[in-house]
Amino acid sequence: MDAENPAVQAKNIWSDALTLLRHKKSLSPRDKGWLEGVSPEAVYGTTIVLCVDNASTRQALENELMQSLLEALKIVTGQDMFPAFKIVPPQTAPEPKIEPEPEPQAKPKQTARVEEQPELPLNGPSPSLADLSKEPFGTAGPVPTVPSALQPQVGGDVEGQFSVDRNKVQRDPETHLNKNATFDTFVPGDSNRFARTVALAVAEGSGKDFNPLCIYGGSGLGKTHLLNAIGNYALVKDPTLKVRYVNSEEFLNEFIEALQIPSQSQGRIAEFNRRYRSVDVLLIDDIQFLGGKEATLEQFFHTFNALHQANKRIVIASDVAPKNLKGFEARLISRFDSGLTVDVKPPDLETRIAILRMMASMNHSNIPNDVLDLIAERFTENIRELEGALTRVTAVASLSNQPVTRAMAEQTLQDFFTTDVEIKPTDIISQAAKYFHLTFDDIVGRSRMKNIALARQIAMYLTREMTSMSLVDIGKVFGGKDHTTVMHACDRITNEMQQRQDIYNYVMELTVRLKQGSN
Ligand code: ADP
Ligand code: MG
Repeated sequence: MDAENPAVQAKNIWSDALTLLRHKKSLSPRDKGWLEGVSPEAVYGTTIVLCVDNASTRQALENELMQSLLEALKIVTGQDMFPAFKIVPPQTAPEPKIEPEPEPQAKPKQTARVEEQPELPLNGPSPSLADLSKEPFGTAGPVPTVPSALQPQVGGDVEGQFSVDRNKVQRDPETHLNKNATFDTFVPGDSNRFARTVALAVAEGSGKDFNPLCIYGGSGLGKTHLLNAIGNYALVKDPTLKVRYVNSEEFLNEFIEALQIPSQSQGRIAEFNRRYRSVDVLLIDDIQFLGGKEATLEQFFHTFNALHQANKRIVIASDVAPKNLKGFEARLISRFDSGLTVDVKPPDLETRIAILRMMASMNHSNIPNDVLDLIAERFTENIRELEGALTRVTAVASLSNQPVTRAMAEQTLQDFFTTDVEIKPTDIISQAAKYFHLTFDDIVGRSRMKNIALARQIAMYLTREMTSMSLVDIGKVFGGKDHTTVMHACDRITNEMQQRQDIYNYVMELTVRLKQGSN
């Protein structure tokens, strides 16, 4: 941010600060009127120059509004900022001098065009795919190298249990937080800066006016990451807090379970209520899945009100803005709107590169900049895909013992671009069955044989990745499995892919086959 010119910086900071101040409940409409009359001029270090057009506005800002102003500026910038006021009579209030963005020539690599790349030395399928023409395993044979920690445990609820230490998605059994999704691993950029700032304020406890905080935006843009980061950080600040992360599907399912045995349902609903109404920080993800689920929404409405009235923090993630949520009553939407709504957008090129750098360095992989640039140029709309592309390039290089080069990355990523085929879950199941020499019924069945269970989990993972189906619906398609089974399958395969090339290969090979529509 420091590199920006003082006027741009002032404009950005002020616009975020004003958004926060507009939501501050302790401010009267008159106070807010004063604030609307401010125009930012410049930032110099920790001083922000604010122009007002008369002395009484200035007086109000310097006195009764000062505290709120300082707080908002601190939340937005993460440091103490001090406003300096200038009285500029109306007509001459300066337009902030906004200079054009620096020319892209400053970063030629990032804008290098793909077509200008030299002819690729690699022809035919990429090495990983060539390796994979060997079929992974036969009908009866066990999966060769599943480490014992990951093997189904005899007698237990096989599909729900794995030990996944060392792995990336680590859910805390109590809070359900993914410990690895923190603010430290969340790269800020213009597309998410405001959301991150406000999330941090809520996590720290200084964002009391943003309750609930609603974070919305497209798939793979960091909403779930932010929810987890809030929970993890809130616990760092105050380990005694009760934090609960819940996907709305999980919430739905727990509620339905509570209703299932009529004779016990009263006690179970009371227990459900206790569980959710006793938390200090409720993080509820993918709220859109509750659309049209009237009884659950009713329950959620009461939970929401109870927490809200007790000043407990509520953060909601959704794929659309609250006002566009389908199948939600107006009263609930207006509750959501009573807090603060922020969005996350697709990251710009620089942020994408910064994210890739961070991911590469966390994996200790040494990827040349031109390869990171290539991936960042190709995957523009979704950070999950960005990550997938990086993993793929790294894995192919290590499989084939070649260094990661731009040409090799080009070749590897080619398959990713034929993405416009609509993929149905039944296609995924059939394709997985064929690939693993199993039957459709094996995949949707209940056999716990290792090779069948693994194939099923891979198919579930692919269904989650390649369709927009909810966990609950995926569970249904896979022979009426519980949504938690699907969730565990997705977590496990995500983790395993990072550690085991065979599993990574199965997933990639199947992805390519599905995208090519081969059968
Ligand atoms: P959403 O919930 O919006 O669909 P996620 O939070 O699951 O998206 O993000 C998808 C992936 O991208 C996750 O692995 C997440 O850690 C990563 N990610 C998203 N935003 C960032 C960011 N700003 N910095 C680093 N990683 C990010
Ligand atoms: Mg999410």
